[in-house]
Amino acid sequence: MKIKYIISLMALFINMQCFGWGQKGHDVVAYIAETHLDESVKNKVEAILDASLVYNSNWLDNASHTADFAYTKTWHYKNIDEDQTFETAKFNKNGDIVTALNEQISKLSAGGLSPEEEKLALNILIHLMGDLHQPMHMGHYSDLGGNKHEILFFGRKNNLHSIWDSALVEAAHKWSYTEWQTQIDRLDSAEMENISKGTITDWAKETYELATEVYRITPVGFNVSYNYVSEMTHIIEEQFERGGIRLAFILNNIYKNK
Ligand SMILES: [Zn+2]
Repeated sequence: MKIKYIISLMALFINMQCFGWGQKGHDVVAYIAETHLDESVKNKVEAILDASLVYNSNWLDNASHTADFAYTKTWHYKNIDEDQTFETAKFNKNGDIVTALNEQISKLSAGGLSPEEEKLALNILIHLMGDLHQPMHMGHYSDLGGNKHEILFFGRKNNLHSIWDSALVEAAHKWSYTEWQTQIDRLDSAEMENISKGTITDWAKETYELATEVYRITPVGFNVSYNYVSEMTHIIEEQFERGGIRLAFILNNIYKNK
């Protein structure tokens, strides 16, 4: 009975499509944002969420697999195939990360939402601002954002999307989400202002450029090892920081006068 349970659990994980930074990445992005909110904004947002920003930062990855939130399944990414550009990529009529993020920001800015609607829009925004900065969320459609791009991770079979979600993050630093923030969140105000410039589309394009580079340096069958981890660590750190600072910037703008 016990073995049967373990086997079915394993099958579940194998079949699960990867949906974004692993839990650590989302927690780090949300926590960086939390530390950069104006105090009054932080109080308002936490009252709506009835929790910290970190608490539900991963929730959407699970929810998208349930019937009630199946409509959000395609909201975690945007696919751009090799023979396309960001502009010419086929538009997913079920929604993509750029559309979904802009929608949540418009809804929250306009106001007039019920408490449940506002909480949902906030939770989606917090989660997707993490995903927006994971390079493989601007991956190719042909390989499902790198999920079918088979590589080796220290000699063991894996795929490009999966290692960028979690394995690389954990190989980079064995830190808790608060330790990640303490170590990497050290920009001065001019640098933060610079990072906060732009739109969701600009930031998606920036991630797409990174994805293009990741594909270039990680061909199918490539064995990811120590060199790769050390070269990619600063990109992971930068992407977490960008995600967190930009999320704080968006929330401060929406809630400072509410
Ligand atoms: Zn996700």
